[in-house]
Amino acid sequence: MTDRSAGRTMKIWRDGELVAWADATIHVMSHVVHYGSSVFEGIRSYETPSGAAIFRLRDHMRRLHDSCKIYRLPMKWSVEELMQAAVDTVAANDLRACYLRPVAVRTGEQMGFYPIGVPVETFIIAYNWGTYLGHEALVNGVDVSVSSWRRAAPDTFPTLAKAGGNYLNSQLSKAQARVDGYAEGIMLDSFGYVAEGSGENLFLVRDGILYTSPVAAGILHGITRDSVMRIGRDLGLEVREQNMPREMLYIADELFFSGTAAELTPIRSVDRIEIGSAKPGPVTLAIQERFMAIAKGRVPDPYGWLTPVPTPVGAGA
Ligand code: PMP
Repeated sequence: MTDRSAGRTMKIWRDGELVAWADATIHVMSHVVHYGSSVFEGIRSYETPSGAAIFRLRDHMRRLHDSCKIYRLPMKWSVEELMQAAVDTVAANDLRACYLRPVAVRTGEQMGFYPIGVPVETFIIAYNWGTYLGHEALVNGVDVSVSSWRRAAPDTFPTLAKAGGNYLNSQLSKAQARVDGYAEGIMLDSFGYVAEGSGENLFLVRDGILYTSPVAAGILHGITRDSVMRIGRDLGLEVREQNMPREMLYIADELFFSGTAAELTPIRSVDRIEIGSAKPGPVTLAIQERFMAIAKGRVPDPYGWLTPVPTPVGAGA
């Protein structure tokens, strides 16, 4: 059985203060517990030759602000303040490679779901988290299925907000996939077009062209997705954001997931139909290699994607 506390660290940032892990608690009457009112981010810090560096920190904190705006949730910290808080949290825990989870929640102790005026608290958690779908998955790829659960229709739950409540939908899809023996489920949107995985965006390669679903297809506007598109274009690929019918998955030359947690995970089969040669293909490998090389500081970062975390004075190298 996995030890679910293995990722824990020492300090959590709580509205301007670094508190002990055990003290970062909220009351059971908090609005978020009953009505799912949280917005959050998932960010990675990588170990580079010059210390810890946080990947696309500004973009993540901007998306957190966007999620707050969509849900009319007042966020009292600016993007810059949240960026500094993330850097402080990594440094205070003396971490290099880790996963960061900023989360803003409606708390208070009142009954009723009307959200306006309910107190909001913001936390940044640093967590020791390795590969999301496993190291094997990054190297050999995963077997997935098309989920019978769909992403929410555009006028129901806004998928551009990374809100806790959206992950009830993700939980249904992920649990179904795992119980049925797959690593992950691909969800279609409410019109039947390919959307994304339960916690990853999706890319398809056919005849050397890189395809991904448009933001209107019930997806999260993934930051890794954006990184993949930019790297793909800079490697000379044509990149198309377009709706894709389900069967395009089966006849793809290559398929892969992208996400902060999943990084670039190749897909080996969909519904037991082998994709291409059932091995990570050349386009997937080229983008995966370039992405990891930039994130881990092995090559210069031409995009300004890394925010270095200064090593505390007096700490060993
Ligand atoms: N879609 C969903 C539903 C997700 O939860 C995630 C992970 N945040 C992604 C896509 C990938 O987004 P990103 O690359 O910004 O991590």
